[in-house]
Amino acid sequence: MKTISVLGSTGSIGTQTLEVAEHLGNVKIAGLSTNRNIKLLEEQIRRFKPEIAAVADEKAALDLKVSVADTNTKVVSGVDGLCQVSTHKKAGSVVTSIVGIAGLIPTNAAIDEGKDILLANKETLVTAGDIIMKKAEEKGASIIPVDSEHSAIFQCMQGGGAVDRIILTASGGSFFGRKKHELENVTVDEALAHPNWSMGKKITIDSATLMNKGLEVIEAHHLFGIDYDNIEVVIHRESIIHSMVEFTDGSILAQLGYPDMRLPIHYAICYPERVSSIVERMDFKKLSKLSFAQPDVDTFRLLSLAVWAGVHGGTMPTVLNAANEAAVELFLEGKIKFLEIAEIVEKHLQKHKKIINPSLSEIIDLDRQIKEEILR
Ligand code: MG
Repeated sequence: MKTISVLGSTGSIGTQTLEVAEHLGNVKIAGLSTNRNIKLLEEQIRRFKPEIAAVADEKAALDLKVSVADTNTKVVSGVDGLCQVSTHKKAGSVVTSIVGIAGLIPTNAAIDEGKDILLANKETLVTAGDIIMKKAEEKGASIIPVDSEHSAIFQCMQGGGAVDRIILTASGGSFFGRKKHELENVTVDEALAHPNWSMGKKITIDSATLMNKGLEVIEAHHLFGIDYDNIEVVIHRESIIHSMVEFTDGSILAQLGYPDMRLPIHYAICYPERVSSIVERMDFKKLSKLSFAQPDVDTFRLLSLAVWAGVHGGTMPTVLNAANEAAVELFLEGKIKFLEIAEIVEKHLQKHKKIINPSLSEIIDLDRQIKEEILR
C-alpha cells in the first residue's frame, strides 16, 4: 500500500492521478488540495476520504469547511495549508500537479520532510532547480518526473549508461506551420485547440507558443544534470514518441505510447515496478507515419528565449516564467494579443539584472514583483 498526497487534485493531472490511484487499488490518499474548485474537492473528499484537504483561496476554504463538516477530513487554507498537505506524516510521496510557481513552496516543504516528489509542476525546477535538486539529494528525496517527456527520458535512462544527448519531442501545439503574420489575430479558442493532448488552459497556451517546450528544456537540464548544449528539441506532430535519449555509443532509446497522461502518472506512482495500467495499447498497423521537423524558433520565439534564460541561469528563468504566467493570464482574459506574450517576456528579460545564486525568498519576491508590474 502506498499513501500519497495530491497537490492540485482538481486540475487535469490531479483528477487523472486520482483515476489512476483508484484503478491501482493499493494507493491511499493522505491529502488533496485545490486553488478554489471546492465543488469538485468536496466530491473527492467524499470519495477518497483524505486526512486533510487544503484550499488555497481562504474564503472558499471557509465554505468547504461547512460543507464537509460531516466528514473526518480536516480543511486547511492558504500556502500554509498546501504545505500541511504536502508534508502530511502519512504521505510517503506527493504528486505536485499544481499550476505555476504556486507549487514551489509546498514542494520545497515536502522535500524538507524527505518525501518523494512525483513532479508535475515544472515551474519548481524552472525557477529554483539548483536549490531543489541539491536539497532533494541531501534529504534523500527522489524526484520522479510526471511530465510525459521527462518520464520518457527517465524510463530510457533506467538501464544506465553515459548519455550524450536528450531529444525532447514537441507536438508543435495549435499553430504549427504558421508564420508570424498568420498569428497576429488568433483567438483564445484557437490557441486552446490542441491537436493531441487534453490539458489545462495555461499549459495549452504554453504549448501553442512553444514556451512549454522551453520550460521543459530547463526542467530536463536540472532533473538529469545535462548541459543545455546536449538537449535538442524536435517537432513530432503525432506525440507518439514522448522523448529520446542518445547514449555515448550512438544508440538511441525512445519511449512510445498514445498521448495519455495517465501513463506517466501511473509509472511515477508504481516506480520502480511495472504494473498493468488502464491505457490503450498501441496498434502499430494504424500508425501511418511518425514525422519529425525542426522547430520554427523565429516564429515561436519563446522557445529560444526560454533556452537563453536557462543558459544564463540565476534569476533569469524566474523572470521568464513570471512574465509568461502573467502574460498568458492577460491573453486568456482577452486583454492582449497572442504575439504580445513573447514581447512581454522578452522585455522583462532584457531589463532584468540577474541575481546569480538567488534564495527561495528572492525568487518568490521577484516572481511577485514581475507579475504585479504586468498585471496592474
Ligand atoms: Mg510535457
